[in-house]
Amino acid sequence: MNKNTYHLVTLGCQMNKADSERLASYLDQAGYIETKQPETAHLVIFVTCGIRQSAEDRVYGRVNQLRKKNPQALIVITGCLAYRPDVKRRLKGQVDLFMNINYLPRLVELLAAKNNPDKVDVGKFYEAERQENGEEYLKIPARYESTYRAYVPIGNGCNNFCSYCVVPYARGREVYRPASEILDEVKKLLKMGYKEINLIAQNVNSYHSLDYDFPRLLKEVADFPGTFWVRFSSSHPKDLSLDLIKVIATSEKVVNHLHLAVQSGDDEILKAMNRKYTVAHFKDLISRLRAARPEIAITTDVIVGFPGESEAQFNNTLKLFTELNFDLAYISRYSPRPGTASWKMVDSVSSLEKKRRENILNAHLIATSLAANQEKVGKELIVLVDGQNKSGLYYGKSADYRTVFFEALSKKTNLIGSFVSVLIKEARPFGLNGVLSEDSKVSV
Ligand code: SF4
Repeated sequence: MNKNTYHLVTLGCQMNKADSERLASYLDQAGYIETKQPETAHLVIFVTCGIRQSAEDRVYGRVNQLRKKNPQALIVITGCLAYRPDVKRRLKGQVDLFMNINYLPRLVELLAAKNNPDKVDVGKFYEAERQENGEEYLKIPARYESTYRAYVPIGNGCNNFCSYCVVPYARGREVYRPASEILDEVKKLLKMGYKEINLIAQNVNSYHSLDYDFPRLLKEVADFPGTFWVRFSSSHPKDLSLDLIKVIATSEKVVNHLHLAVQSGDDEILKAMNRKYTVAHFKDLISRLRAARPEIAITTDVIVGFPGESEAQFNNTLKLFTELNFDLAYISRYSPRPGTASWKMVDSVSSLEKKRRENILNAHLIATSLAANQEKVGKELIVLVDGQNKSGLYYGKSADYRTVFFEALSKKTNLIGSFVSVLIKEARPFGLNGVLSEDSKVSV
């Protein structure tokens, strides 16, 4: 077994993926070598997700399996499960270190403390753990996984405490990177030829650093010269400002897609979720966005079966779906997460009923999404190419976040990571089929 190898297991959201890119660069710098084989690695780090029980169970399964196959490995848990006392208890004896990601700059010291308890004062590190606020780890340069799409964290943590969500406990309070640091990273990426910049944080709309707010930061990123797209997530409806809508409306490089999580179409449920906006406010935002940029695609997140959600309250969500015709929605069945405010509420909606509500929304979504996709038939869409499937069809995302499949003209050119123009021939509920336009200006 090579003593200096590491393997990363990344689960969950884009923020976890961005954290893994920083972990990889940190470990490369520290002299470790990445391996694809966890069963022979010296160090295995799980960047975990605690959004649903199923995500959590995957971690238990994989840690147990790994411990059997590689008893000598140092196993580290970071991400959303690293702070949870019940997870620590459950994985006791299996995991060597539970680390808040804010502690990344000191991972080698923490591992040394595990290996040489006589030489290093472990207590000192754990005392310090409570003081780290995340600014330092965000300064670590990323080793980007993709060569054309980059995730640039602009901050970390959340102050909102939505009652179902673990993030404020797992990542702590909001910390934002200085605008100059973010702009420098983006400039460097554009020089390297990156085609898509994703600005990410738990709530990008509350970004602030000296005299920068998020609309100003976004505008300055979009004003850089070059052919590229800018996306951003996540956006909280309570903080989405009119200034931001103006930037979305006037900056061509900011894509015509916004993901805005509504979570419920009922004011009482939104209140119980501690979302701090009303359905009327959400609807007003959508109509302003559509007026400012008519071709914008709106996608959302919804939770069905939140504690106490009655049939009538669920029907309000269905009504909102009917009124707003989302282009896509990620529907999840409520799953109580330990340590959150809603954990103490009675999980009153049965699993069967949650599934029924999910199916109803899904059926509606299939119809609206298909109708929106059908409007694209006969049009040309610019697509950033992500890969090729088994049948040889290329696929990628359009600016408005639709998945587009198309045939390649020649087998010789590798289109992955390029912008191409695709003439849309056929619509499906969650995708489009087309052909590469004859005059497609391929930008490789
Ligand atoms: S805004 Fe709410 S849902 Fe989003 S990370 Fe913060 S607490 Fe969680």
